[in-house]
Amino acid sequence: MAEEERMVGGGRRRDDNENTALRPKYLRDIVGQDSVRENLQILIDAAKNRQEPIDHVMFYGPPGLGKTSLALVIANEMGVNIRITAGPSIERAGDLAAILTNLKKNDILFIDEIHRLGRAVEEVLYPAMEDFALDIVIGKGPGAKSVRLNLPRFTVVGATTRLALLAAPLRDRFGAQFRLDFYDQPAMEHIIKRAAAMLKIEIKPEGATEIARRARGTPRVALRLLRRVRDYAQVRAQGIITGPISGEALALLNIDFLGLDDIDRRILATIIEKFNGGPVGVETIAAAISEDSDTIMDVYEPYLLQLGFIARTSRGRTATHLAYDHLGIPYPANGSGQPPLF
Ligand code: ADP
Repeated sequence: MAEEERMVGGGRRRDDNENTALRPKYLRDIVGQDSVRENLQILIDAAKNRQEPIDHVMFYGPPGLGKTSLALVIANEMGVNIRITAGPSIERAGDLAAILTNLKKNDILFIDEIHRLGRAVEEVLYPAMEDFALDIVIGKGPGAKSVRLNLPRFTVVGATTRLALLAAPLRDRFGAQFRLDFYDQPAMEHIIKRAAAMLKIEIKPEGATEIARRARGTPRVALRLLRRVRDYAQVRAQGIITGPISGEALALLNIDFLGLDDIDRRILATIIEKFNGGPVGVETIAAAISEDSDTIMDVYEPYLLQLGFIARTSRGRTATHLAYDHLGIPYPANGSGQPPLF
């Protein structure tokens, strides 16, 4: 199943209809991510003090944790314009040159999925970020000339789910780099209650607890589940979201009490049943369940690692005791299911 089609996937779905009203506007609206928020506050205050644009900023972490929202928050806090684009949509160096020459002083250029920029485009981005300059080659062959065009001082905010795929020289040009983590239960409950109040949805505290528990520490998933549970509550319970109603609605969507869906369970079952609990390589798991290995690493694996259901070793992934317990499969007496080494 494609990531966009999953109810509990962190990636954006067509029906997410990301309500701009729900997006945090200022740093004070950001729930959780305390260390990121505090560091950003310092970065922003210092830049404002010096009346300069802020340093280039990189956010990395699984989808749906607030990278785009934070870029918008920085623009609001700084009182500057933001231009939003994504790695795959900047196909040629000329596309980026056109974007850069249209930027005004202090503007923010947000590049989502920055690890997907092509090599030629990256070559244009380096001097632009470092020297605020654009080198343009005019003409061809021996008569070709390089002309340097000065750009206004601007800020790049980059976002990626895969920092490791980013070329080192590009990564080094980001003065500030922040890793976003999954949100804890209280932060998730807070986000759900805040969204419910803004959308005028009646929700009991236990209802928010149930949704938060299944939302995989990911605000985008929480907001999506909230909408589905609201539909269920409207049809079955006069529109009031209680604990039991949340539980029923989410069970109907095949999302278990930890937020795992069918694919997560298939990944775990595959490691345990087909590969004796591992270690097994991601490519092999991907082939066994007809998924893309990048999607497994970007989307499924981070949450399973966070739950402690799988462990990453140099020889591949292994299923832990917790994963066996969750699937109700007895844990083999010698640990991993592999024959003992000695
Ligand atoms: P990403 O760019 O990392 O995929 P987004 O910034 O698009 O994630 O966030 C996804 C959704 O979650 C948005 O609709 C946003 O309103 C909500 N959201 C993200 N982080 C927070 C937060 N810290 N507090 C409240 N809502 C959040």
